[in-house]
Amino acid sequence: TLCVLGSINLDMVIQTAHLPRAGETVTQGKFHSTPGGKGANTALAAQRLGANVRLQAAVGNDPYAKEALSSLRAAGVNLKSVATIDKEATGVAFINVAEDGENQIAVASGANAVFSPDHLSAITEAAVLSQFEIPVPTLLAGLNSYDGFVAVNASPFTPDVEKVFQRADLIIVNEGEYAAYLSDLEGYSGLLARTLGGEGAELFKNGKLIATAKPPKVEVIDTTGAGDAFAAALTVALAEGQLETDALNFACTVGALATTKLGAQSAAPTRDEVETLLKV
Ligand code: ADP
Repeated sequence: TLCVLGSINLDMVIQTAHLPRAGETVTQGKFHSTPGGKGANTALAAQRLGANVRLQAAVGNDPYAKEALSSLRAAGVNLKSVATIDKEATGVAFINVAEDGENQIAVASGANAVFSPDHLSAITEAAVLSQFEIPVPTLLAGLNSYDGFVAVNASPFTPDVEKVFQRADLIIVNEGEYAAYLSDLEGYSGLLARTLGGEGAELFKNGKLIATAKPPKVEVIDTTGAGDAFAAALTVALAEGQLETDALNFACTVGALATTKLGAQSAAPTRDEVETLLKV
């Protein structure tokens, strides 16, 4: 039912007392690796919510690929359209996290950056959801011969994406992205969701505010992946035919639940967890 066109990374996380300065070595860190990448995070979140998800993406021909795909595989996401690109590395993010929660991230996109139209197969699902961690020409090529529902989480900020916006039915941005894209969004007449962190989210249609939602009160542990989970949930809910106000509320609850656990993919809630919270 849903095709996600996006990135796959393996996140390598080191927690230290403080962030290293240029030239400094900080020792006694704690290391863990965990699957990431906006495409992968979104695909997993949507699958947990009950959608049938196929991920179109690329990994390198290296040992990191298997680990980067492990959670997706376990959740049952269709990985048949994940290309393995020879002589390329799987995308990795080196993340330093200090005790006070401050972080520093270096990303090597690897296979994601050379994911090309040649690697794509036709999108046949009722909806497609993408982000800007893969080349924009690849995204446009995928959308070219597709006439279903197009959702774009316009993150990270990328210039010159007017052609993508022209084809979008739903654009999802956070506060910073909203400000950065303001002029590109002039004349956009589709649905636009703006997330506001702990304040929730707003939904605009043809430039007019049509709905707002507040997240339920939760104990926030780690907000990584909250935006990805929100985008997956809003797309799934709208594709299911939920009313726009209900869909926004659903997505806000999913985003909030995603902040209650460490990590991006491990924190994506199941449909049951969301429904339970929506009932109270
Ligand atoms: P991004 O991570 O893309 O910047 P936001 O921080 O705006 O996205 O968060 C996306 C969604 O996640 C919000 O709309 C909300 O539903 C949920 N969320 C984020 N931070 C919190 C928080 N502190 N408390 C409750 N929900 C949150």
